[in-house]
Amino acid sequence: MAAPECSSVEVLTTNLNSLRTLRSSVTLFFKIIAEGPKEENSNDGEHSFPEMAAKCLTDVKNNLRDLETHVAGLTPSTVPVSLGNTGLLSLDPSPDKLPLYHQLLDCYTYVEKIHCYSTLMHSLLSGNNLKRSSVSLPLSTKRRRPAQLNHSVPQQQVDMLIQGINQMFQDMNLNISRPFGNNAVVQVTLGQVLRAVVTFRGILIEWVVVRAYNEPLVDEDGKVDLYTPSQYKVFQKVTDNANAAMLNFCSPGFSDLSVRSFFTWLHSFVSLFTDVCKKCNYHLHNHMPPTWREFRTLDPFHEECKP
Ligand SMILES: [Zn+2]
Repeated sequence: MAAPECSSVEVLTTNLNSLRTLRSSVTLFFKIIAEGPKEENSNDGEHSFPEMAAKCLTDVKNNLRDLETHVAGLTPSTVPVSLGNTGLLSLDPSPDKLPLYHQLLDCYTYVEKIHCYSTLMHSLLSGNNLKRSSVSLPLSTKRRRPAQLNHSVPQQQVDMLIQGINQMFQDMNLNISRPFGNNAVVQVTLGQVLRAVVTFRGILIEWVVVRAYNEPLVDEDGKVDLYTPSQYKVFQKVTDNANAAMLNFCSPGFSDLSVRSFFTWLHSFVSLFTDVCKKCNYHLHNHMPPTWREFRTLDPFHEECKP
């Protein structure tokens, strides 16, 4: 081998070595973080957890600086890098003295694994149904539209939507207010059966509380009470189910439709105390009326009779 090439191979080996040192110090850091602080009495003479973590981070920093210094000494390759060129390294007559090829293979496998895992993670995270604030687009979309942010829509759009729903049902009265700035709070009165407070964030429903008709919607200070649960078990159960329904109907691409579907579902509770359960045909079961409504058919069921 010619002398300059030989020296460049040595530089490359040094680089790979410092890369390995950096990787092991990063691994050590994450290991310490993952294990967390040790028990107080077991670390006599040892450093405390923050000290150890800080020391590791300093090592990472130093190793990274070393790597950067070494990389600066590399001359960039003029030919396009491909496995074809690196493949020639395996033809070196003494692979024991020059383990570069195997190191490169390891490195390649490592990068491949990272790529594979990160793709997997991306698909898992973007498939989370409860992530409701923005539309996640597939990676392959060529022209990326700016994701519509459902939590920052104009107030008029929410107002019009709520007005529209208010006109859909004669016996359900929706009263919109904005006690906390931009986000709407809708007070619902359904017949003489129940009252509910539906908190919006933009055009997404954030939280629902259902209370009895005779329970107040406002607290002692005259402000809308968003959180205090009903004192009645029936309405506590309906609150739970309403929040489940809210999540079920939520589809970030069709926010209008999901809000309308939710209120249609909520309206079906107008006959909470007169409906019989679709399964057992009784009004009461365990002293409770049918507090569950099927999402699509709005059929009433007791909690225990749910299909
Ligand atoms: Zn039943």
